[in-house]
Amino acid sequence: MMRKTDAYGTEKKKGAADMTKETKAEGTADMAEEAKAAETVSMAKEATAEGAADMAKEAKTEAANAACEAKAGKLVNEMRLCFLSRGENESLARIAVAGFIACLDPTLDVLDDIRTAVSEAVTNAIIHGYQGKPDGMVYLSAFLYEKGEHGCLLRVDVEDTGIGIENIDKAMEPLYSTSPDGERAGMGFTFMKAFTDHLEVESKPRLGTCVSMWKEVAVPEAFHEEE
Ligand code: ATP
Ligand code: MG
Repeated sequence: MMRKTDAYGTEKKKGAADMTKETKAEGTADMAEEAKAAETVSMAKEATAEGAADMAKEAKTEAANAACEAKAGKLVNEMRLCFLSRGENESLARIAVAGFIACLDPTLDVLDDIRTAVSEAVTNAIIHGYQGKPDGMVYLSAFLYEKGEHGCLLRVDVEDTGIGIENIDKAMEPLYSTSPDGERAGMGFTFMKAFTDHLEVESKPRLGTCVSMWKEVAVPEAFHEEE
């Protein structure tokens, strides 16, 4: 009898333990599901925010292109590249822009000017914008517009979503640098200005910086004769 009761008791206990286990497992599964749902919602929110930011960026680029077309001429070519804020990507940016305008057979002087300006802007995005952290994204865009009969206008945008600049006028002064180690000369913007025809800087603290540089590139005569 005892055994029966015992057996029953044991069964009961086992049943209760199983139920507890099941309830626990269900609870854990529920929690996991809830966490997954919350993660999905937060990912969706992020995607929406990213989508909105992308759309805003797109609209800004379109507006800038329209303004350039009004000033210069028809947009004839366009390039976009994004890369991580790693030091080695500075040379990638220089080479990409040089390759983009290679078809125009630019003089070495023009090529050097553009490479220097791009290098300064990208270095700033990596070192200042992302404070040397390698997981930020740098956006490089280049546009070519027709300019007159024998020229093209190149526009290069270098953009980051890093810390931004508090006072743009101050930052653009020669020899001004916030570099804490004193290793920087504070001449990057001065070089960008000197080596291009026009420089525009847009920045918002905590949102990032966009540097736009313009340079006229002469199109060789032979280029026209071939057409
Ligand atoms: P150098 O370019 O001579 O090595 P530098 O980078 O300090 O020195 P600039 O390139 O002229 O000099 O930039 C001046 C200052 O502007 C920087 O010290 C920094 O404070 C600010 N700055 C420039 N670009 C950015 C950026 N993308 N994000 C945040 N701050 C920037
Ligand atoms: Mg600099």
